[in-house]
Amino acid sequence: MRHQMRAEFGAEGASGGVRLWHMVRGEDSVAMCGRELAADGPVREAVDWGRTPELCCHTCGAYFLREQPYLAAEHP
Ligand SMILES: [Zn+2]
Repeated sequence: MRHQMRAEFGAEGASGGVRLWHMVRGEDSVAMCGRELAADGPVREAVDWGRTPELCCHTCGAYFLREQPYLAAEHP
């Protein structure tokens, strides 16, 4: 199953920039940790997990690594 990263904004919304990156399954707008995210917010490829200047959600990271121990992008 494909995953992608979705942004969580802070209190200021999109203008305040990305507060935290979550991981979602497919085109989902609900993160793997259960948090609802803006469906029209920015997304990133799953391979960028841990490589962004912004923090990544620890709970999503744990789920993601369990579901996908080998990144699909490296082993298509
Ligand atoms: Zn999360």
